[in-house]
Amino acid sequence: MASNGAYNAFEMARAQFDHIADLIGLDEGARAFLRTPQREFHFTIPVHMDDGTVQVFQGFRCQHNDARGPSKGGIRFHPQETIDTVRALSMWMTWKCAVVDIPLGGGKGGVICDPHNLSMREQEQICRGFARQLARNIGPVLDVPAPDVMTNAQHMLWMMDEFEEIQGGHFPGVITGKPVGMGGSLGRTEATGYGVVYTIREALKELNIRPNDTVAGVQGFGNVAQYAIELYTQMGGKVISVSCWDQKDQCAYVFRKMDGIDLPQLQSITDRFGGIDQAKAKDLGYEVLPGDVWIDQDVDILIPSALENSITAENVEKISKRVKIIAEGANGPTTPDADKVIHERGIHVIPDFLANAGGVTCSYFEQVQSNMNYFWEKDEVLGKLDVKMTAAYSAVSELARKQNMYMRDAAYVVSINRVAEACRQRGWI
Ligand code: NAD
Repeated sequence: MASNGAYNAFEMARAQFDHIADLIGLDEGARAFLRTPQREFHFTIPVHMDDGTVQVFQGFRCQHNDARGPSKGGIRFHPQETIDTVRALSMWMTWKCAVVDIPLGGGKGGVICDPHNLSMREQEQICRGFARQLARNIGPVLDVPAPDVMTNAQHMLWMMDEFEEIQGGHFPGVITGKPVGMGGSLGRTEATGYGVVYTIREALKELNIRPNDTVAGVQGFGNVAQYAIELYTQMGGKVISVSCWDQKDQCAYVFRKMDGIDLPQLQSITDRFGGIDQAKAKDLGYEVLPGDVWIDQDVDILIPSALENSITAENVEKISKRVKIIAEGANGPTTPDADKVIHERGIHVIPDFLANAGGVTCSYFEQVQSNMNYFWEKDEVLGKLDVKMTAAYSAVSELARKQNMYMRDAAYVVSINRVAEACRQRGWI
């Protein structure tokens, strides 16, 4: 933990890695190699601002490990971006790509900036500057960026365009998260939420529970949450509560209907940031409750799909005795001390980097389609996604069962073993 009490993401990522390295008796050479990104780039991006001044932005890109294939991971635009956050996220991407067994390594990038205070032209200059600085170090066979916090399909297209200008050709496989029709993949919007539910379906089979007999509570109502709810209800499950952040009140609220929420109805009163209109929800018969009660609902499955550090030492005891599965749609929703309690209670956890790996898996599909310049139908994309997610879940749960191991540990063991083995086979370690 940092001196101000906040978690340093890179220290946390390393502590998780060290714990698993101890568990599997990883040799010293492999530990030393995998604890640190293979490469990191620090660079400046000068921008001629709209007011005539020049402002210099700081950019980073980390390639944690590319033994299994080109590095893959998003680019964040954030005023509080730090190199340690980027390092940690790149390491987590290595494990995420490995657990779902796609031939990619882990990378991540960031620029210290706040898009809220930048015009579109200024943002375009940052994107082009980012691509110029990294033109020799990214590419379809090197490192493939994607959108992340406060970056979107437009940013990706500007970066791709600048890269192609420099390289002199079309290389849509250099970046993912592009719009459909410009090299993007069908199914990407649904991929993360659907992927979460493919793993829930497999967990229910393993626990011998019929989806129709289950009730779920969801934290969040954004991209991941909405598509998870769509597929879970199609499968026969019932969602009784969702939550969202209220921009005006600067706090979260839970929206609950005991006989099951109506997804299209709630979507019709939700803004593009996943915020639900309270007054309209009340008119439609929803109870509007304080945001922190999402965790103590009387449900079988909890799906935290909002943001990190949502399940903490302070609220973990509130999880209902009925909860059998926690499927982590969000990244890092559970703090390490809360995780200990969940482990002791024997709740079946589908850890974040397994549960939400549908996003990166579909990005991999986008890259494959872009490299071929041939695009699949949506059903084909989602069918392939299901196969990958199901296989990933099985590999982890089988290890957990055989070795009587916690699901989160088992997922790390699968990933770290795969990456270490690739490094060994290449003769690196
Ligand atoms: P989003 O911005 O579309 O939605 C976030 C939702 O969470 C919104 O409904 C927002 O109102 C709600 N929220 C924010 N703060 C909250 C709070 N304190 N309490 C309750 N609700 C709150 O984001 P998303 O794309 O759905 O991503 C959600 C999580 O999933 C993030 O952790 C993200 O990193 C992770 N994730 C997303 C993807 C993806 O493909 N979208 C892939 C992997 C992981």
